[in-house]
Amino acid sequence: MHAVGIVAAAGSGLRLGAELPKALVPLGGRPLVCWAVESLRAGGVDEVVVAVPAPQRAAFTAVLPGDVHVVLGGDTRTASVRAALAAARGHAGDQGRTAVLVHDAARPLTPPELVARVLAALAAGARAVVPVLPVVDTTVRVDDDGVVAADVPRAALRRVQTPQGFDRATLVEAYGRAHGAAAEFTDDASVVRAAGIPVHTVAGDERAAKITVAHDLRMAELQVLGEEDR
Ligand code: C5P
Repeated sequence: MHAVGIVAAAGSGLRLGAELPKALVPLGGRPLVCWAVESLRAGGVDEVVVAVPAPQRAAFTAVLPGDVHVVLGGDTRTASVRAALAAARGHAGDQGRTAVLVHDAARPLTPPELVARVLAALAAGARAVVPVLPVVDTTVRVDDDGVVAADVPRAALRRVQTPQGFDRATLVEAYGRAHGAAAEFTDDASVVRAAGIPVHTVAGDERAAKITVAHDLRMAELQVLGEEDR
């Protein structure tokens, strides 16, 4: 199965407190977006499209490998993925089924085995698959004043990571239906589920954690240093 990777890298990353867009922030001397592209490829993805913020297009092009297709992202993650998906449509390899793996640039240390697991689930017939991890903390719902209103049983809860894998026709159809002001989603599996398509799960990996705040970046730096020492 031909596999296209989409990397959503058009966010500002304000919560990280850096002056650069988050995807350009260096980890072990390389921008986060380069790590994300590399793990997709190492896990079996054939071609990669990256959605970038318009003002920094040149900066992204300068650091990404020459065979990566760069497109302009949008104001929301959903808009950025939509733009990349439109660009991915015209790519080669349209014989038979094509897989699309949508990945956050903010998950630089995603192991290639996780990418391969998502691809294998698609090859086995799933139309949509997400990596998930269990919720380990006690989980509650709070009211508007921050007072605990209810316990939420955690046994059936999962944290959803990326890369999320889809049969390309399924993802294109789901994005086609998800138009309108209310149609903003935090991930792609939600877009597909809103179109009534079942989303399967595979085991996620703590190393695929998303870098959101400065502490996450420090933890990732430690992980990179630890691997260099081995
Ligand atoms: O903000 P958050 O961490 O949830 O963003 C997840 C991913 O989506 C990041 O890699 C970010 O660059 C990307 N994104 C995007 N376009 C936006 C907003 C976020 O590609 N407009």
